[in-house]
Order: sequence, then C-alpha cells, then structure tokens
Amino acid sequence: MPHDAAVIIVGAGPAGLMLANEFGRRGIAALVFCDRPSTSPYPQANATQARTMELYRRLGFADRLRARGLPPDYPTDVAYFTRATRHEIARFELPAARDARSLVKTLSGSWSAAELPHRCSQLYIEQVLHDEARRHRSVTLEFGWRVTGFVEEEGGVAVDAERVADGAKRRAHAQFLIGCDGPRSTVRKQLDIHYDGEADADRPFMRGRQLTTYLRAPAVYDLVPFKRAWQYWSMNHAQRGTMVTIDGKGEFTFGMQLPPGKEESDYSYADSASLFQTMLGANCPVEIINRSPWHAGYSLVAQSYQRGRVFMAGDAVHLFTPTGGLGYNTAIEDVVNLAWKLAAMVGGWGGPRLLATYETERRQVARRNTGFARYFADSIGKFVAPKEIEDETPEGEAARERAGAYLNRHVREEFDIPGITFGARYDGSPIIMGEDRAPPPDRMNDYLPTALPGGRAPHAWLGDGRSLYDVLGFEFSLLRLGPRPPDAAPLIAAAAARGMPLSLVDLPQEELRDLYEADLALIRPDQIVAWRGNAVPQDVDRLLAAVTGA
Ligand SMILES: Cc1cc2nc3c(=O)[nH]c(=O)nc-3n(C[C@H](O)[C@H](O)[C@H](O)COP(=O)(O)OP(=O)(O)OC[C@H]3O[C@@H](n4cnc5c(N)ncnc54)[C@H](O)[C@@H]3O)c2cc1C
Repeated sequence: MPHDAAVIIVGAGPAGLMLANEFGRRGIAALVFCDRPSTSPYPQANATQARTMELYRRLGFADRLRARGLPPDYPTDVAYFTRATRHEIARFELPAARDARSLVKTLSGSWSAAELPHRCSQLYIEQVLHDEARRHRSVTLEFGWRVTGFVEEEGGVAVDAERVADGAKRRAHAQFLIGCDGPRSTVRKQLDIHYDGEADADRPFMRGRQLTTYLRAPAVYDLVPFKRAWQYWSMNHAQRGTMVTIDGKGEFTFGMQLPPGKEESDYSYADSASLFQTMLGANCPVEIINRSPWHAGYSLVAQSYQRGRVFMAGDAVHLFTPTGGLGYNTAIEDVVNLAWKLAAMVGGWGGPRLLATYETERRQVARRNTGFARYFADSIGKFVAPKEIEDETPEGEAARERAGAYLNRHVREEFDIPGITFGARYDGSPIIMGEDRAPPPDRMNDYLPTALPGGRAPHAWLGDGRSLYDVLGFEFSLLRLGPRPPDAAPLIAAAAARGMPLSLVDLPQEELRDLYEADLALIRPDQIVAWRGNAVPQDVDRLLAAVTGA
C-alpha cells in the first residue's frame, strides 16, 4: 500500500506539534490528525522548563516563544498570600523574559545553560508550535479529524480517521504511527496498555477534582497592593487557590479544588466569579472565558510506550500532578528522543534495536519526574494554613510568619529545579557507552554538569557569544576538544559508510576539553552524550553500530 506519509501523528497538543516540527525540520513527511478545530483554547501549562527552551532553541524558535505570554518586563515571581489583596506571606523573585537572555550568560554551575525557563501559557505555546510546524512543507496538519483506530500492515500502519464535522471517513497509511493523543489516548486504549502508579494521593490539597477558570479581570492590578507576580497562591483556612497571570494585562486562570463529590456542572459561571473574588479578598468585575476540570493526584506511567510500529508520547504515557510543571516538559523531551530514532529508521541508518530504546530511556525518566511532581504536591498539599492566619492580632502575625518560613522554603525547592530539568539520564540504555563511574547524585535543585555518557551534553558559552549547542549539528555531532585533538577521520569515514549523519565540531578551548574530560565526545541529536574518549577506538564501526542500535 503506498504511504501517505512516513509517520502519522495523532493529536496536536504540545507533544504532537513538537514531533511534527522534528520531522518537518528533517523534511520527513508527517501527517497530523487532531480532533480539535485548532490548538487548545485552555491555558493549562504555564511553566516551560529551561531544558525545553533549549530544545526549542535547537529548532530555532526559542526567542519567538519567549516573546509570547507575559509582557517582557513582567516579573515571573511566585508569591503566597492569605488572600492576594490582604497579606503577602512568601515570595520567590524570578526574572522577567526581557532579562532571561542576558542573565543566562552570566550563570554557571547548576544553571550553566543555553536558556532559562519561560513562563507562558500553553495557549501561546501551542500556537507557536503550530505556526512553526506549518512552515515545513513535509508536515500536513489535519484539524477536525478524529482517529478511530488502526491496523498494522506489511511495512506500516493503516490509520482510520473520521471528520468531526460530518462523519466523513478516510484511511491513511504510514510507516509509523505515534499517539500523542493525551490522557484518554485512543491509541493506548486500542493497544490495551494501562497506566501504572498512583491515581490518588492522601493529602488535603492537590488531590481529586480541580477546576481551572480562565477569566478576564484587569481590575485585579488596581486591587492587589503588592508587587506583581506570575503565580499568586491564596493560603487561608477557608479556601486555597491559585491565580496565574496569562497575558499580564488582565487575563488570569483561577484554580480551585472541588469539594469531594462535586463536579464542574455544580458551579455556574457566577459561582466561579464569586469564588474568585473570595480568593482575592475583594470584589471586582470578572468575565469568564472558559473553564476546564482536571484531576490532581496522578503519578501514572504507562506499562509500555510501544508496540510494533506504534508509539506513544506525552500524556498518553504519563500523567502528572502539575506541581513542578513537568507534564508537558516531559512530553517535549519524549518526542525529541523518539523523533531522531524514527528519522534514523526512515533514513535507513538506524539499527534494529534502536526503537526499543525509546521506551527504555523515556519510561525511567517519566517515573523519575512523576516522583518529583508528587513530592512537590505533598509539600504544598499537606500544608494547612491555621485558622488565625488572617487575624490582625499578634497570633495572626505569628501564624503568617511561620507559614512564610515554610512557603519560602517550599517555593525555592519547587521553582528552582536545574537538577530536574537538566539532570535526567539514560544510564543503562544499550545505545549509551557507559563508563565505570557513578553519575552525580540526582538532586532536584542541583545539577552537576558531566559528560559521562547518558546525560545532557555539558553546556558552555563560546568566546563569540554563541552557545555550544548552537554549533552542534542537527543529528549526531563529534566534538574534537582542546588544542591538540586526535585525528577523527576514521570515525567520520565509518559514519559516512553507514549513512549516519554526523557533524564534526572543533572546539579548541582547553577549558572545554576539561569540561568534557576527554578529547572526543559523540553527541546524539537530542544533545545527550553517547560516548567519549581520547582516541577513535580501533573498532570504530562497533561503536557506531552500538550508538545507532545496530
Ligand atoms: C491546570 C494544569 C496546569 C498544568 N501546568 C503544567 C505546567 O506548568 N508545566 C507542564 O509541563 N505541564 C503542565 N500541565 C500538563 C500539560 O498540560 C500536559 O502534560 C500537556 O498538555 C500534555 O501534552 P500532550 O500533547 O501529551 O497531550 P494533550 O495536550 O492532551 O494533547 C492531546 C491532543 O490530542 C487530541 N486527540 C485526542 N484524541 C484524539 C483522537 N482520537 N484523534 C485525534 N486527536 C486526538 C486532543 O484533542 C489534543 O489536541 C498542566 C496541566 C493542567 C491541567
């Protein structure tokens, strides 16, 4: 059967759209079906982690994303109040988008990075990912089409889709199918693959049904007497909730936990407006844009990420409680990992063991990251504000001080996470040439750059102001480090013979050789160190066979 595309992607959320960009950048034909009429109208994620920004930079649109969301000078502080108009009790000051680019060039150690995090609603993220995907001629985006099922066939997959508007049906064929179709994944259900892990959590807050209301209330800025923040948390005895700034001009999300047994339908828009005002501690005009219910307390990872020619990524294979802001970010790293492996198969240079490493590598990271998110959810969800916290009495003041001490510690743990974002590793993967050395400890708030194969290639700013990542090739790169690097010709010749795309990058700076503790380093397309050494090995073809899963 002739193929309509090399790959079919189900879903145009962050995972599906990023995957489309990865294929589009390589000129590989990708057909995307999405049952929505366009990108999501719900704000959802607000935290793009630094590693995700680095991956956007690799595709050339990090700056375009950083220009979206809050105004460039809007602080991205996270602040805690009894109610946002009453008492401020804790705050973590974070830079505005305008300052992120220059600030990152001054940082080292844990924050040795090409990009800092960006605070921007998923509304805008999806729009950027969509616009970028559309620029690629090899990408076809079919909105308004729901995938209903698929069958594996000789050399590919046949996918059935139905037009949402009129029920028209079509069948499309491709070499591979990737389900990026979110928590209720049709692809996962057809494969009869289930999530493992925790579906509920024992904590008073950040568990069970939640309702996020997207609203417009510009008067908030006249009413809140404190410095502007990106996230406002109300922590009083009666009601806890969040207010997250969407555009810095008056649009917010208001997040609240529904009492047990209650559903979205039990609340009118007027109820939501009134609860928002209660959380704020002041009356103000509120215009509701939309609402979306969701569930907190999940730490779930699918039992499997692949069956045959069918793969899954993003929420289809892992569900987080959004504390730490890790769900969509983990999804982006999933698809960057998967894309180069599928591209290698389509291009004919990937070996038969390569595709299985997607699950090996990404499933362990999903378990790690859902664990960190659960820790943060416990840390904030088990905090209960005492009754007197709102009182204008010495007892009230003491309660606010105690709460402030706790929350100031918590917020620095949850919102300063270079260890989580840069420290994920693929030790034990068969395509990583591990060494007889332990990796640095996996800590949330500290990241120790290391070129030990299996982790993110250590970052550095080059003398000319470029990031080391800016000089890497889009596929594999061989770094020749230091002033006297060995001859790399045999490795380059062996890669060419295999059809394996490889860029040679000379970095003569002694300090980069010291950073990588080797004269040569082989970096994968997803910027993970695959191998390092001081000379091209005798059996260089064996090395390349191993890193490409042959
Ligand atoms: C309130 C809230 C706050 C959050 N905050 C953060 C945060 O700060 N940071 C973070 O990293 N994560 C956060 N998340 C999580 C984040 O929103 C999700 O992890 C992310 O949306 C997952 O992306 P995805 O592409 O895998 O799935 P989705 O975004 O769910 O996209 C799936 C797409 O597939 C489509 N689809 C489904 N079935 C079919 C079908 N059969 N045929 C065709 N199309 C189909 C859907 O319409 C949708 O477009 C938050 C979530 C919530 C609810």
